[in-house]
Amino acid sequence: MDVDLHQLFARAAAEGARHRAAVADLPVQPSPDHAALAAAFGGALPAAPTDPREVVDELIAAARPGLVGTVGPRFFGFVIGGALPAATAADLLAAGWDQCAYNEVLSPAAAAAERAAGGWAKALLGLPETASVGFVTGAQAANTVGLAVGRQRVLADVGWDVARDGLFGAPRVAVVASEERHATIDRAARLLGFGTGSIEPVAATSQGAIDVDRLRTTLDAVRDRPVIVCLQAGNVNTGACDDLRAATTVAHEHGAWVHVDGAFGLWAAASPRTARLVDGVELADSWGTDAHKWLNVPYDCGLAFCADAELHAATMSYAAAYLTGSGAVSDPVLGDLTPESSRRARGFAVWAALRELGTDGVADLVDRSCALAVRMAERLAAGGATVHNDVVLNQVLVSVGDPSRTDTIVDTVQREGTCWVGGTTWHGQRLIRVSVSNATTTGRDIDVSADAILRAARTATLP
Ligand SMILES: *Cc1c(COP(=O)(O)O)cnc(C)c1O
Repeated sequence: MDVDLHQLFARAAAEGARHRAAVADLPVQPSPDHAALAAAFGGALPAAPTDPREVVDELIAAARPGLVGTVGPRFFGFVIGGALPAATAADLLAAGWDQCAYNEVLSPAAAAAERAAGGWAKALLGLPETASVGFVTGAQAANTVGLAVGRQRVLADVGWDVARDGLFGAPRVAVVASEERHATIDRAARLLGFGTGSIEPVAATSQGAIDVDRLRTTLDAVRDRPVIVCLQAGNVNTGACDDLRAATTVAHEHGAWVHVDGAFGLWAAASPRTARLVDGVELADSWGTDAHKWLNVPYDCGLAFCADAELHAATMSYAAAYLTGSGAVSDPVLGDLTPESSRRARGFAVWAALRELGTDGVADLVDRSCALAVRMAERLAAGGATVHNDVVLNQVLVSVGDPSRTDTIVDTVQREGTCWVGGTTWHGQRLIRVSVSNATTTGRDIDVSADAILRAARTATLP
């Protein structure tokens, strides 16, 4: 079939741009007819080929009614982030170029982009210059990589080669983590063969940061075992960061591996105003973060860092007779550092996001989000809401009236469409969780959204 690729790609790009231009004025959550969506995408796959232009037109028509305004300025659920213009365009290029970011031979350009963007990210996040960076799907994958490298190290320390012998018969590793850890730590523990039963939970402070005295007690109790400690920068409910300096120091005294889950909170390091929240971050052994959350890179994109680049590559890479350009343990890049083999060239979008913002722009994005979170908390409080956390970062926990009404209020807000917030359970109470992480959110977006939440709380009391 003779296809005009210029026209076809332009059509797709134009639709993306149309969506961006319209998203701020549309209800954040559509009320889709699920049966109609299924019908638009469904039916038997025809035997005959279809003209690509028709396919793209069909896709656009089928998908539009079911698109959520997650990229818009008033989506405050899940620390969703946005998508910067240059980063989005870079992802379009990554698809157009269709590079396989497996190794240096397959895409020298992808390798160079990852090296540059990874270096910039390390500098912004205050991580050691010599750390390795794997470009993964997100923080779940990054946490899994960090724990995998830690598993290799702590078992090697007791004379066990986990890469060769697996975990059958191995000394039992203790995964020490705050009771406020993100659920992706538990999934990583399952996937890596530790099992959630090896997680030793440590009590947290009232704000959800790990209690360092309790951490010391737990470490004493498991001192005969290989230990991985999981710390957190950015509690998903409160934004609280663990005392990384104190906790890492205690963990290292016990010979433990220290991994930091900083899916969004690690970016606090990029602004002088918030950097103190992650003081001591450079002391850890591995770190996971997202680019698709606070950095506003399109989905999916995360970063897995490791202080020991050689061990990182030794844990994640593989060799095969037909491969060249892999296994360069002294200067690893691309697939030597990730669980995926063949994958999209994610480095282009991260490179573009960082290049678009510059160091000042990243700091400004962090500062603005934090200031807007405070504005949200203040406006809601002025309207009678109760704020349940110290708003130290970009997360706000609130209730309006009795917390038992939270789910009804959340549902009303979502249906009304001005903004999108989700509910969470915090210290046994149902609360509204607001996360500010989109580069396009303005003060006015915060004000109209706070008003919408307060309005929903009033109408939700009506019989
Ligand atoms: C979002 C989040 C994760 C998981 O990240 P994904 O990008 O969804 O894989 C892990 N930890 C924390 C603290 C998070 O906020």
